[in-house]
Amino acid sequence: MIDQPALFGGPPEFSEELPVTRPTLPPAAEVLTDAASLLETGMLTNGRQVAQFEEECAAYLGVGHVVAVSSCTTGLMLVLRCLGLAGEVLLPAFTFCATAHAVAWNGLAPAFVDSEPDTFNLSARTLLRQDLRRPAAILAVHVFGNPCPMDELEQVAAEWGVPLVVDAAHAFGARYPGGAMVGTRGAAEVFSLSPTKVLAVGEGGLVATSDGRLAERVRLARNYANTPDYDSLFPGLSGRMEEFNALLGRANLTRVEQYLAARERLVALYRTELGEVPGLRFQAVPPGSRSTYKDLGVYVKPERFGLTRDELALFLARENVSTRKYFHPPLHRLSAYAGRPTAPGELETAEDLARNMLCLPLFSHLSAEAVSRVAGCVKSAHRRADEVRRVLRLGSGGNLP
Ligand SMILES: *Cc1c(COP(=O)(O)O)cnc(C)c1O
Repeated sequence: MIDQPALFGGPPEFSEELPVTRPTLPPAAEVLTDAASLLETGMLTNGRQVAQFEEECAAYLGVGHVVAVSSCTTGLMLVLRCLGLAGEVLLPAFTFCATAHAVAWNGLAPAFVDSEPDTFNLSARTLLRQDLRRPAAILAVHVFGNPCPMDELEQVAAEWGVPLVVDAAHAFGARYPGGAMVGTRGAAEVFSLSPTKVLAVGEGGLVATSDGRLAERVRLARNYANTPDYDSLFPGLSGRMEEFNALLGRANLTRVEQYLAARERLVALYRTELGEVPGLRFQAVPPGSRSTYKDLGVYVKPERFGLTRDELALFLARENVSTRKYFHPPLHRLSAYAGRPTAPGELETAEDLARNMLCLPLFSHLSAEAVSRVAGCVKSAHRRADEVRRVLRLGSGGNLP
């Protein structure tokens, strides 16, 4: 715990800002030789690095096919396009906007579904609770890297006779109960390799699928759907991964298990340090599965913690601790998607999570000591909640939410 919070005039706990996330990257020496040869040969795209990265990822995931693309958003757009869908696609309201954008860019209609309060993911219950017409597809998300309940989602998809696609942006390295890797289920699972994700390459994504025909179509689609004789079978995209990103990815892939183990240890430490604090709740990871902990989302129950999520975030900012309010606002409240009909109470949990979730700093090379210090700040905020609220409300002229 800290003696004198910065909010009350003490020195901040961290002298420099502690970021909420940071990419963990291989040492420069390891990639410089390959990078130099890229420059010498001029093979910046369509070369050997991407092909090898795809093979190595397919072997790591234990899946038939991996197609590397320029981003997860592009990968989702291409998969949805290649499945030849028309109509509505069900997806959670509690996710990042890119999930819905990939749907909208295909001329499909995003239809938002509620999430489970404990896992923060879709379930058969939340899918079936909706009074919806039969959709064109289900697009699930492994929120913060926590694997979705695929058995029950696949059962619903099979009953409706529609494909289940997964936005696995957060979940490279996650495992389903029983040990199978995320990437092996559904019609396809699509990963992001952008800098906030666990395996970072810069900008990049991976489409993983067991369906050889779908993989071939996505491979074509990422290259304008251009055939060798210069026909184009459908409107494809320029969505290839670059060679440099793939070589960075290959070096990072050899370390991904270490990254995941480090994150697991840090989350265990957060949970130990904060386990006794009233009004804080962690995401429930189903028994036997492995989350990547892309983010450590903590649910703040204001009545018990003493402060709202927003008040805690302000308190931590003064200690130089960055946080993120993922995912706030929920998708149905974004300007891009506002005005879509939702029945009252239909997205209750998504709204509640968006209002109360706070992501604390977590990245693969974060130190245990930093985690303990962040936890100390959170405990101080709780212990002195009444004073904190008073000072924050004075400072904002009483306008704080
Ligand atoms: C980051 C993210 C994406 C987008 O990934 P890009 O590789 O940047 O396109 C999609 N969905 C979710 C849930 C994300 O967090």
